[in-house]
Amino acid sequence: MTTSESFAPKSVSVAVDNQVCAAGGQCEMLEPEMFSVDDETAIATVTGDGKLSPERAATLVDRCPSGAIYVDG
Ligand code: SF4
Repeated sequence: MTTSESFAPKSVSVAVDNQVCAAGGQCEMLEPEMFSVDDETAIATVTGDGKLSPERAATLVDRCPSGAIYVDG
């Protein structure tokens, strides 16, 4: 095991900036247990603890067309 592996997080938290979310629901399609899109506003929120593997979090950040999803620790 290298030093960087020993400090690599097993999970990270993701969040949504609701001022930036442009709707569409890509996040909810990719992680239906993690994101919920409001029926009226079409704005996404994180449900549950928001924890994903660093790799999956990076995918969600990358797939959000507006840049609203970010890693929050
Ligand atoms: S993928 Fe991004 S822009 Fe689309 S609903 Fe989710 S947070 Fe909002």
